[in-house]
Amino acid sequence: MATGTHNTQLLTRSAAAVWHPCTQMKLHEQLPLLPIARASGVWLYDFDGRRYLDAISSWWVNLFGHANARINAALSAQLAQLEHVMLAGFTHEPVVELSERLSALTGGKLGHAFYASDGASAVEIALKMSFHYWKNSGQPQKTSFVSLAHSYHGETLGALSVTDVALFKDTYAPLLRASAQVASPDWRLAAPGESPLAYATRCADALDAHLAQHHAKTASLIVEPLVQGACGMAMYDPEYLRRARSACDRYGVHLIADEIMTGCGRTGSFFAHEQANITPDLLCLSKGITGGYLPLSAVLATDKIYTAFYDDEPARGFLHSHSYTGNALACRAALATLDIFEEDQVLARNQVKAQYLNRAAQALARHPQVKNFRNIGMIWAFDVETSDPEFSRRFHQAALAHELLLRPIANTVYFMPPYVIEDHEIDLLIAGTLAALEQTVGGRL
Ligand SMILES: *Cc1c(COP(=O)(O)O)cnc(C)c1O
Repeated sequence: MATGTHNTQLLTRSAAAVWHPCTQMKLHEQLPLLPIARASGVWLYDFDGRRYLDAISSWWVNLFGHANARINAALSAQLAQLEHVMLAGFTHEPVVELSERLSALTGGKLGHAFYASDGASAVEIALKMSFHYWKNSGQPQKTSFVSLAHSYHGETLGALSVTDVALFKDTYAPLLRASAQVASPDWRLAAPGESPLAYATRCADALDAHLAQHHAKTASLIVEPLVQGACGMAMYDPEYLRRARSACDRYGVHLIADEIMTGCGRTGSFFAHEQANITPDLLCLSKGITGGYLPLSAVLATDKIYTAFYDDEPARGFLHSHSYTGNALACRAALATLDIFEEDQVLARNQVKAQYLNRAAQALARHPQVKNFRNIGMIWAFDVETSDPEFSRRFHQAALAHELLLRPIANTVYFMPPYVIEDHEIDLLIAGTLAALEQTVGGRL
């Protein structure tokens, strides 16, 4: 079959039989789906020989490139050994080793790992675990949760209840539990002349006031440390996390770090919360942990939380399970990913890469319609001044024409490339972004 024909047939069949995520399917009457035939490194290839630089790591999951030889080899070896066994009553080497290594990455402070398959489930687990801890500790009235304004924690009903992004939440509002939102420390919201640090401190005072009033009924505060991703890569000063940690301690409220996006080196340290020198009570991890290969998530908990469940009474144990909890293949992909972090000194190399990208992006940062150019670790974002309500879609299309996969969030364009991106690929990314910008907003406001 000619590749062009294959291409057309696949996208027709996909639009008919596959219900795509976060998509108004009718849009695909005009906007064709992109059938991908294969991928390698930072590149996705279609059936017609066109290629696209995966500058958003396929929804923030890929770390070391597509078809990574080392992860492939680890998975092949695991396939020959054990693909999966239920984790209730059974255990296996990959899940034990992964739990030990994740514990070590937190300096042993979060030494108990509970597994699921996606980020939203990890958030559900952390919320249930926090409530159940308080119930087991004689405080069953602690049933509410606090999150930051504009936060994103996933789209299942519990996770959506602590999410504050209108697009995802409004339609389903009648199905959700009420939760409280406190001011986001996003430095773009600071008053004129107010520093990110001063603004973070002001927001922490507001959190303190909220907890002073509501702590008796509050189980936990859940935050995306340092970067609120899905609302448009809002970045904030680590002082907020230090102050939030101390407020949670004073008022007897858990601090849940949702590191589903910020974990695995994305913000420059392995976990984002390290940059504030704090330890959360519960930590949610997913996305990059398998290098973008297989669905896996984990919730890491302190001894103190774990011990509150350890009892003769079954109902005091944590009541949660998924069929694929602790899947051996996914754990093996995660171990191969952690091996690469160690063997290649990835965090140090990423610093050099980030410097190169920041230098290459100077023309972009100075572009007259670009505001708030920002970077932390391997995340870059900027806001585009335009009144075009279709900017995001038009920019996405223009970027594809320049061999780039970019999906702006409203007017915010962001880069979250795989860590294996090379300097010449960074040059292509910046040149293509400038060209797409010129095509979509060039000279127009
Ligand atoms: C992506 C994300 C989630 C949800 O993870 P899924 O695997 O998509 O369910 C939760 N929290 C944050 C911060 C995320 O970025």
